[in-house]
Amino acid sequence: MPRQVSIELLRNIGIMAHIDAGKTTSTERILYYTGVTYKLGEVDEGTAVMDWMEQERERGITITAAATTASWKRLGQDYRVNIIDTPGHVDFTVEVERSLRVLDGAVGIFDAVAGVQPQTETVWRQADKYRVPRIAFVNKMDRVGADFDHAVRTMRTRLHAHPVPLQYPIGKENSFVGVIDFIEERAIIWLEETLGAKYEYIELDKLWDEAFLKTRPDIANGLKASAIDKDFYIEHREKVVSYIAEHDESVLAKYIEQHALTPEELRASIRRSTLALKLVPVLVGSSLKNKGLQPLLDAIIDYLPSPADVPPVEGVAPDDSEPLLRRAADDQPFAALAFKIQSDPYVGSLTYVRVYSGELHAGTNIFNSTRENRERVGRLLRMHANKREEIDTLYAGDIAAVVGLKNTTTGDTLCDEDHPIVLEPIEFPTPVISVAIEPKTKADQDKLGAAMAKLAQEDPTFRVHVDPDTGQTLISGMGELHLEIIVDRMMREFGVEANVGRPQVAYRETIRREAAAEGRYVRQTGGRGQYGHVKLEVHPLPTADHEDMHEISTDQLEAWVKRIANSRAKWQFDKDRRMLFINKIVGGAIPQEFISPIHAGIAEAMETGVVAGYEMVDIAVVLTDGSYHEVDSSEIAFKIAGSMGFRTACQKADARLLEPLMRVEVVVPEEYMGDVIGDLNSRRGHIQGMESRAGSQIIRAQVPLAEMFGYATELRSRTQGRASFSMHFSHYEEVPAQVAEEIIARATGRAAR
Ligand code: GDP
Repeated sequence: MPRQVSIELLRNIGIMAHIDAGKTTSTERILYYTGVTYKLGEVDEGTAVMDWMEQERERGITITAAATTASWKRLGQDYRVNIIDTPGHVDFTVEVERSLRVLDGAVGIFDAVAGVQPQTETVWRQADKYRVPRIAFVNKMDRVGADFDHAVRTMRTRLHAHPVPLQYPIGKENSFVGVIDFIEERAIIWLEETLGAKYEYIELDKLWDEAFLKTRPDIANGLKASAIDKDFYIEHREKVVSYIAEHDESVLAKYIEQHALTPEELRASIRRSTLALKLVPVLVGSSLKNKGLQPLLDAIIDYLPSPADVPPVEGVAPDDSEPLLRRAADDQPFAALAFKIQSDPYVGSLTYVRVYSGELHAGTNIFNSTRENRERVGRLLRMHANKREEIDTLYAGDIAAVVGLKNTTTGDTLCDEDHPIVLEPIEFPTPVISVAIEPKTKADQDKLGAAMAKLAQEDPTFRVHVDPDTGQTLISGMGELHLEIIVDRMMREFGVEANVGRPQVAYRETIRREAAAEGRYVRQTGGRGQYGHVKLEVHPLPTADHEDMHEISTDQLEAWVKRIANSRAKWQFDKDRRMLFINKIVGGAIPQEFISPIHAGIAEAMETGVVAGYEMVDIAVVLTDGSYHEVDSSEIAFKIAGSMGFRTACQKADARLLEPLMRVEVVVPEEYMGDVIGDLNSRRGHIQGMESRAGSQIIRAQVPLAEMFGYATELRSRTQGRASFSMHFSHYEEVPAQVAEEIIARATGRAAR
């Protein structure tokens, strides 16, 4: 079947928001208005269309990045909008990250009362990193305390964005009835608050006409509540238009000369500046009251990119790492990224793919260049909110689900075997929290292994570590909720019966001083012996200042190598372990083939630190010398020697315990402020700032994760449920000595038991 929708008419977008800003409600409304949802799911009843998994329905939050296809007519053309679901909860930042990889543009939803919230900042920074053009929707204008200007201001101050309001709300709270549209110069008024509510356009002149306003008390009230009159309008529009012109050379001259731009010119200019990430157009409404969604859809079409507007995707050739580019065109070789795997009750598993270039046909073979295996494509499905549509071909720019892939995981590249390319893999952040699982029987142990393998394929963000001594399985993830969901699925879907421990902090260890040591593994009595001998140094690595390892450049690493090893030695950097391995051996003191076993032995030793057995990070290891034996030396002997030498050196290097610190923001009524601050202090928190907003105080603090367990319950009881909070990972920091002692005692006690 030939292409039905040309690439310029495609929009691949994500909707991103702080939890509770109204992402689910807005998505629901959009799906309704794009005509694919028959019955609307209200979030509060837990039947949202986008929330596929049972757990999500129970919790009322969205976790999985399912992609849903919708359509919208704009200026006589039929557009196709693929909505890639991004979660709002902080535990799932990686879901946001991976969806940002495959979408071309995004809508940021903001709460009109709160403005920019901490989670918004995190997500916004991620979107900056991937250079995703964005528009903003200030939602919940109907809520008590809604303040559009404040929300826009916080985008400037906290996100350092350049927001440009294309609309201004008419009324707020109960009186919010519609918007003034600065581009088309008219008002849009919604006549009801129900789903599918009709709206009407009102000419501006009428807004300033007393006689007309007498017939329309709804509009009169709204204008009064927002203090909008003709002067206000003229002044505001002037600002908006000049702000748009200032950001776009191609209209600036005309604007200066004629002091006027047509709506078409303005739209084209806003589009250019949005795509260039110079501006963020801002719209306003209330999803719950069904106001503002149709103009939002128009803006998605008008201002967000089509796949043809974004730069060609980058990748490398699998064998020689030669950089390669693929343009978004059907006649390019096929290249796609698998960005989500979902278990599916009907077809087993669905692999969601974003096609960057070329075509993919059902029933053909493709090449997984990440794993270097061939895969058979079964069926291709386009997922609508309420139905699945079977299609025979995917084209450049498409997002859809593939059935039948057996060995493809999240982040893998699928491509044409004759033109192989590996696209940049998706980065996964640090898991900060773990839980111990003890299967009840041997059969459960086996089921557990299978369950973990399956779940890891869908969600590569959690880690599984089996303690070789105790046989205990430790799962680490991004937060309590993340682990709860994994454990829940393990029990429900895979029927594993197990005792589940309490969530624990994923501590880390590092060293504070340099130290040198030797590792000798020599067994030379009878038969074939073992001989491995290394001399090495350990040095603290300044990577501790970089949570994002990708920020560290090769130049930076070379400078470190030069300083630490004072030579032009060979080196290797392991981003995951945050370990720099430098080989200073000269003159064959240890033969080349034993170097990588030594490296492997050290890497393995880093998994179990010398202080309390936690993972070690931010260490440079310099291999300085050693010796070998013609007959008895082996890979395994050097691996053990490397590991022994490393541990001995670390014991002399002032090793310390590190803990994750969280950024916490609490919104609390004035009268509870003292109490909440006192409590945060007692949790070893550092208050970083306070801000008052409409009778509430916003407290920002940094608190160790270890002290935040059960905080939700505690806060609720202290404030009679009138406070709310959010938290997300900030960085790792050294644990104070006294606290460290307790942790070490617990850890060593555990090991001794
Ligand atoms: P998400 O967590 O961002 O997906 O947010 P939801 O869509 O689940 O909304 C969170 C809560 O805010 C729910 O109780 C919604 O009913 C409510 N909500 C969403 N949009 C609006 C709005 O425009 N006005 C008001 N007053 N409440 C809203």
